[in-house]
Amino acid sequence: MNQGTGFKQKVLQFMQGRYGVDQLSNFLIGLAVFVALVGMIVRVPVINIFCWVLIIIGYMRIFSKNISKRYAENQKFLDKTFGIRNAFAKVKYRMKYGKQTSEPFYIYKCKKCGQKIRIPKGKGKIMITCPKCKFQFKKYSR
Ligand SMILES: [Zn+2]
Repeated sequence: MNQGTGFKQKVLQFMQGRYGVDQLSNFLIGLAVFVALVGMIVRVPVINIFCWVLIIIGYMRIFSKNISKRYAENQKFLDKTFGIRNAFAKVKYRMKYGKQTSEPFYIYKCKKCGQKIRIPKGKGKIMITCPKCKFQFKKYSR
Protein backbone atom coordinates (compact mmCIF):
# COMPACT_ATOMS: atom_id res chain seq x y z
CA MET A 1 0.00 0.00 0.00
CA ASN A 2 2.69 2.43 1.13
CA GLN A 3 4.93 1.35 -1.70
CA GLY A 4 2.07 1.93 -4.12
CA THR A 5 1.49 5.52 -3.07
CA GLY A 6 5.22 6.12 -3.03
CA PHE A 7 5.43 4.97 -6.62
CA LYS A 8 2.46 7.14 -7.57
CA GLN A 9 4.14 10.10 -5.89
CA LYS A 10 7.30 9.43 -7.86
CA VAL A 11 5.35 9.26 -11.10
CA LEU A 12 3.59 12.53 -10.30
CA GLN A 13 6.91 14.15 -9.45
CA PHE A 14 8.45 12.83 -12.63
CA MET A 15 5.55 14.12 -14.74
CA GLN A 16 5.65 17.58 -13.20
CA GLY A 17 6.42 20.19 -15.84
CA ARG A 18 6.21 17.58 -18.55
CA TYR A 19 3.81 17.64 -21.43
CA GLY A 20 1.80 14.44 -20.89
CA VAL A 21 -0.44 12.48 -23.23
CA ASP A 22 -2.21 14.10 -26.16
CA GLN A 23 -3.98 12.94 -29.30
CA LEU A 24 -0.78 12.81 -31.38
CA SER A 25 1.03 10.63 -28.81
CA ASN A 26 -2.03 8.42 -28.50
CA PHE A 27 -2.07 8.09 -32.26
CA LEU A 28 1.66 7.28 -32.47
CA ILE A 29 1.42 4.59 -29.79
CA GLY A 30 -1.80 3.21 -31.28
CA LEU A 31 -0.13 3.10 -34.67
CA ALA A 32 2.86 1.32 -33.07
CA VAL A 33 0.53 -1.38 -31.72
CA PHE A 34 -1.07 -1.69 -35.15
CA VAL A 35 2.35 -1.91 -36.83
CA ALA A 36 3.41 -4.56 -34.30
CA LEU A 37 0.32 -6.62 -35.19
CA VAL A 38 1.07 -6.26 -38.88
CA GLY A 39 4.68 -7.25 -38.11
CA MET A 40 3.45 -10.52 -36.58
CA ILE A 41 1.76 -11.40 -39.87
CA VAL A 42 4.20 -10.01 -42.41
CA ARG A 43 7.45 -10.74 -40.52
CA VAL A 44 9.67 -8.10 -42.08
CA PRO A 45 12.36 -7.01 -39.55
CA VAL A 46 12.09 -3.34 -40.60
CA ILE A 47 8.51 -3.26 -39.29
CA ASN A 48 9.67 -3.91 -35.72
CA ILE A 49 12.17 -1.05 -35.93
CA PHE A 50 9.41 1.22 -37.24
CA CYS A 51 7.20 0.13 -34.34
CA TRP A 52 9.89 1.00 -31.77
CA VAL A 53 10.59 4.35 -33.42
CA LEU A 54 6.87 5.22 -33.10
CA ILE A 55 6.82 4.20 -29.43
CA ILE A 56 10.00 6.15 -28.65
CA ILE A 57 8.73 9.30 -30.40
CA GLY A 58 5.37 8.91 -28.64
CA TYR A 59 6.92 8.64 -25.18
CA MET A 60 9.52 11.33 -25.87
CA ARG A 61 6.61 13.66 -26.60
CA ILE A 62 4.74 12.61 -23.43
CA PHE A 63 7.81 13.17 -21.22
CA SER A 64 8.92 16.30 -23.04
CA LYS A 65 9.40 19.52 -21.10
CA ASN A 66 8.99 21.69 -24.17
CA ILE A 67 5.24 21.99 -23.65
CA SER A 68 4.51 24.80 -26.14
CA LYS A 69 6.32 22.99 -28.96
CA ARG A 70 4.50 19.70 -28.26
CA TYR A 71 1.21 21.58 -28.08
CA ALA A 72 1.88 23.17 -31.48
CA GLU A 73 2.71 19.75 -32.95
CA ASN A 74 -0.53 18.32 -31.62
CA GLN A 75 -2.55 21.23 -33.04
CA LYS A 76 -0.92 20.69 -36.44
CA PHE A 77 -1.74 16.99 -36.22
CA LEU A 78 -5.37 17.77 -35.29
CA ASP A 79 -5.63 20.26 -38.17
CA LYS A 80 -4.28 17.83 -40.75
CA THR A 81 -6.38 14.90 -39.59
CA PHE A 82 -9.59 16.88 -39.12
CA GLY A 83 -11.29 15.35 -42.19
CA ILE A 84 -10.37 11.78 -41.24
CA ARG A 85 -11.28 12.20 -37.58
CA ASN A 86 -14.55 13.79 -38.56
CA ALA A 87 -15.37 10.85 -40.82
CA PHE A 88 -14.51 8.41 -38.00
CA ALA A 89 -16.65 10.38 -35.58
CA LYS A 90 -19.58 10.14 -37.99
CA VAL A 91 -19.17 6.37 -38.29
CA LYS A 92 -18.97 6.08 -34.50
CA TYR A 93 -22.09 8.21 -34.11
CA ARG A 94 -23.93 6.11 -36.65
CA MET A 95 -22.89 2.89 -34.90
CA LYS A 96 -24.08 4.26 -31.58
CA TYR A 97 -27.39 5.81 -32.60
CA GLY A 98 -28.26 3.97 -35.79
CA LYS A 99 -28.83 5.40 -39.21
CA GLN A 100 -32.16 7.06 -38.44
CA THR A 101 -30.95 9.68 -36.02
CA SER A 102 -27.81 10.42 -38.01
CA GLU A 103 -30.12 11.70 -40.76
CA PRO A 104 -31.99 14.57 -39.13
CA PHE A 105 -34.56 14.91 -41.93
CA TYR A 106 -37.53 13.08 -43.28
CA ILE A 107 -38.30 13.24 -46.95
CA TYR A 108 -42.00 13.69 -47.69
CA LYS A 109 -43.66 13.86 -51.04
CA CYS A 110 -46.32 16.46 -51.63
CA LYS A 111 -49.63 14.67 -52.07
CA LYS A 112 -50.67 17.03 -54.80
CA CYS A 113 -47.67 17.60 -57.03
CA GLY A 114 -45.14 15.02 -55.86
CA GLN A 115 -42.55 17.58 -54.87
CA LYS A 116 -40.01 16.17 -52.38
CA ILE A 117 -39.91 18.13 -49.14
CA ARG A 118 -37.28 17.84 -46.41
CA ILE A 119 -38.72 18.01 -42.90
CA PRO A 120 -36.49 18.13 -39.81
CA LYS A 121 -37.05 15.32 -37.30
CA GLY A 122 -38.35 15.76 -33.80
CA LYS A 123 -40.83 18.55 -34.50
CA GLY A 124 -43.99 16.70 -33.47
CA LYS A 125 -47.18 17.50 -35.32
CA ILE A 126 -46.52 20.05 -38.04
CA MET A 127 -48.21 21.67 -40.99
CA ILE A 128 -46.19 21.34 -44.14
CA THR A 129 -46.61 23.77 -46.98
CA CYS A 130 -45.39 22.52 -50.31
CA PRO A 131 -42.83 25.02 -51.65
CA LYS A 132 -43.95 24.33 -55.21
CA CYS A 133 -47.75 24.27 -55.21
CA LYS A 134 -48.44 25.70 -51.72
CA PHE A 135 -50.57 22.69 -50.84
CA GLN A 136 -50.78 22.22 -47.08
CA PHE A 137 -50.89 18.95 -45.22
CA LYS A 138 -50.36 17.70 -41.68
CA LYS A 139 -47.53 15.33 -40.76
CA TYR A 140 -46.07 13.96 -37.60
CA SER A 141 -42.30 14.32 -37.37
CA ARG A 142 -40.84 12.12 -34.63
ZN1 LIG B 1 -46.94 20.33 -53.99
